[in-house]
Amino acid sequence: MKHKGLIWIIMIAVVLFLATKPDFQTASKKLYVDSKQEISKAIANINARQASNEISVNPQSNSSSSLNANTNGTTPTEDVIHGHKLSNVYYYHFADNTPQDVRKMFLSAVNIYNQTGLVKLIAGAGTQQQNQIKFSIYDKKMTSSQRGTIELGLGGPEVIQQSGVNAYTVNHASASLNMQYIGSIRLSVAVHELGHALGLAHSGNRNSVMYPVDQGRTTLSKGDLAGLKTIYK
Ligand SMILES: [Zn+2]
Repeated sequence: MKHKGLIWIIMIAVVLFLATKPDFQTASKKLYVDSKQEISKAIANINARQASNEISVNPQSNSSSSLNANTNGTTPTEDVIHGHKLSNVYYYHFADNTPQDVRKMFLSAVNIYNQTGLVKLIAGAGTQQQNQIKFSIYDKKMTSSQRGTIELGLGGPEVIQQSGVNAYTVNHASASLNMQYIGSIRLSVAVHELGHALGLAHSGNRNSVMYPVDQGRTTLSKGDLAGLKTIYK
């Protein structure tokens, strides 16, 4: 009888421990997405358990300034595409080593952008004179100096200009997920990185998919649509 009581005490203690144990996976998870064009990274911290109100941006970051702009309006566009007239038709393909689950995420993201009617993303390699997007993966472990920040993905446009008789301007873009972190393989991250590839920059508006901290958003905001229109209409 005495012994049984002890077992119960131990079991209760274990249950209490499990219930109060900090969830290291979520408590320490700092979600972050980064643009290829940025030299310095927006260090944004988010405590997953207080996701709605606790975000800080590193004051040393250059890109934090861009977050202050357009807090309520059009999602900004990447500098490198400014002044260029791009076709809204893109051919996309995957790097050979892209895993199935990542392909699935990017295909869903492609669908989301195609549904806007503003861009047309078609499976295929495309020619040199056509817009292209390459989807891929990479592996980057954050260093201790980057503690509190996890880079989930990279994406961005690359404008290629050919002058002369056969002049053309195209975007050979890329979007990639960081396989080092399980939080990267999310539709919201794929939508964000594809947004960069298509020319969208970071938005300070929390309902934008281009907000630099992953919030799980997969629906383009009015501002995101307006941003795409400034590039493709
Ligand atoms: Zn980004």
